[in-house]
Amino acid sequence: MVEVRERREPHGTRVPLTELEQSAFCTTEPLVVKPLEEEFKAGVRWQKLPIAYMRMDSTTLRERVGAARRKLGKRAVILGHHYQREDIIAFADFRGDSFKLSQLAAQQADAEFIIFCGVHFMAETAFVLARPGQQVVLPNLQAGCSMSDMAPTGDVEDCWDDLQRVLGPGGVLPVAYMNCTAALKALCGRNGGIICTSSSADKAVRWAYERTPRVVFFPDQHLGRNTGLKLGLSLEDMVVWNPFKPMGGNTPEQLRNAKLILWKGHCSVHTRFTVGQIRQARETYPSINIMVHPECINEVVKAADHVGSTEGIVRTIAAAPAGSVWGVGTEINLVSRIAKENPDKTVFCLDPIVCPCATMYRIHPAYLAWVLEELVEGRVVNSISVDDETGRYARIALQRMLQVG
Ligand code: SF4
Repeated sequence: MVEVRERREPHGTRVPLTELEQSAFCTTEPLVVKPLEEEFKAGVRWQKLPIAYMRMDSTTLRERVGAARRKLGKRAVILGHHYQREDIIAFADFRGDSFKLSQLAAQQADAEFIIFCGVHFMAETAFVLARPGQQVVLPNLQAGCSMSDMAPTGDVEDCWDDLQRVLGPGGVLPVAYMNCTAALKALCGRNGGIICTSSSADKAVRWAYERTPRVVFFPDQHLGRNTGLKLGLSLEDMVVWNPFKPMGGNTPEQLRNAKLILWKGHCSVHTRFTVGQIRQARETYPSINIMVHPECINEVVKAADHVGSTEGIVRTIAAAPAGSVWGVGTEINLVSRIAKENPDKTVFCLDPIVCPCATMYRIHPAYLAWVLEELVEGRVVNSISVDDETGRYARIALQRMLQVG
């Protein structure tokens, strides 16, 4: 498991370190791969690895990764999340969002090793869905997710217990966004709940309302709020659960009156987008299409023309007419790739600062070279696994998601 150390701030506020580190790679220059030794200076937590890998330049790393990849052949499958650097995506057998990648991995019957170039909760999900005997490797164990870190398992379990006391059996069901630990997916599986992706959140929440009057949605309050509004709820139907306050900062009456209880978490990348950026883009390009991810705040979602998951954004822009202009509110590595793959359109990120997801960005090619070369030598490093009971209940919640569609 990734060690998640937390910093206690005055007045008891606790901020995940990954959140504090999130702007470490922000720049006004294009992103280029530097030797890891130089990237270490960004001041985030990196996993230690043999010193020789620290000094390799990007050309050497490409050769080393390519050679190890060829030696492993079908024994390994490399998965690259959309938010990964180009030098990682270049070696990915598949690219996509977290769930699509996990499903694809499970279909690779020949692969002994699934190398998940993404973040920790994704590698866990891949393990839960993998075939028996397949091993999942996360190249850098420090690649967590600040949103996932905002919902520590114990805090969500406490919340669930409080809700049971106030609302009674059957009074509420848990709906968890994919971006959480396997332990929380298991909490959903054990308690009649369901998992969702950003593209299936409305279906999952509707499914839950067929079984209960209330839903507790975690860890992303913005996806939860945007989904509730899409389903016709009002803001008055929702309360926010702040894990740093008793009863989440709510009275029993407020909880009983609520239809949607939103965990106070967010994505550090998608909350960078603002209505001001959209206004500026519309002034510059009057015919522009604005497309944002549903992890953005509701004001930004309301000001956009289209809202979609990472897969949805890729598909929508690919299908758009030549000459169209797109201002996009999602992670910069993905936006840059879409722009490159759609040279007949103008595509740019709404945020003028180049600010990659700092946890995804920790998968430097040096780590990929290291874990692949270790596998060639018969050693598995950075293996990610989930205990049997957690895996069993997490799988139940994931299967409900698949049934809902
Ligand atoms: S983009 Fe946001 S939700 Fe996705 S891994 Fe990064 S911090 Fe987590």
